[in-house]
Amino acid sequence: MNAIILLGAPGSGKGTTAERIRDEAKLIHVSTGDMLRQAVKKGTEIGREAESYMKQGALVPDGVIIKLVEARLDAGRPDDVYLFDGFPRTVPQAELLKTTLARRGGGISRVVFLDAPRHVLVERLTGRRTCRKCGTNYHVVNIPPKKEGVCDACGGDLYQRADDREETIIKRLEVYNRETEELISWYEKQGLLVRVDSSQEAGRLASEILKLIRGSDRGTAR
Ligand code: AMP
Repeated sequence: MNAIILLGAPGSGKGTTAERIRDEAKLIHVSTGDMLRQAVKKGTEIGREAESYMKQGALVPDGVIIKLVEARLDAGRPDDVYLFDGFPRTVPQAELLKTTLARRGGGISRVVFLDAPRHVLVERLTGRRTCRKCGTNYHVVNIPPKKEGVCDACGGDLYQRADDREETIIKRLEVYNRETEELISWYEKQGLLVRVDSSQEAGRLASEILKLIRGSDRGTAR
């Protein structure tokens, strides 16, 4: 059981890239943000615990996230390769992932850091629209759907996530700088990190990352 991690600030293109490459690269896409939004929608215990943090743009406590990811990996098969988007976001989460993969005889093959300047992140987040049904991401200018307000993939309604409003975006970027950015050097020290310019157009970014991932198929770092 191995994993590839997409690391980057909110708006850096992790979700959009994952949606574009997962089928071709045969990766199991795990977005903790999507899992939490589903849990909130269903009103599960985890959803009730997470909701207030998500509304404020704060991180959900590590204990909750770890429970969620462990349950997901427990349901997987030994030869699965995961593509994590939005996880890990803290060093304790990264440590847990390392141990839990090692316990299952696997490891992290690559950490791709999606690097973009702040003005690009803000412009992407304020213009993002998400499908209520399948979670596919669009952008009002950069990645418009064929028909306004309707998902190309499943016909679901597109909406603006409550945490994609300007006040919450500023908070989420602060939280990223304070709690997640340190993972860049954490993974760099382990020789796993590769940096890409994620301000480029979504299709080009996805192709670049696909190539990088294919190049790391051999030699999984443990
Ligand atoms: P995302 O869709 O990745 O932007 O996540 C949306 C929100 O879910 C975040 O602002 C956090 O409140 C919460 N969240 C998602 N993933 C994590 C994580 N790995 N650790 C803590 N909170 C998370």
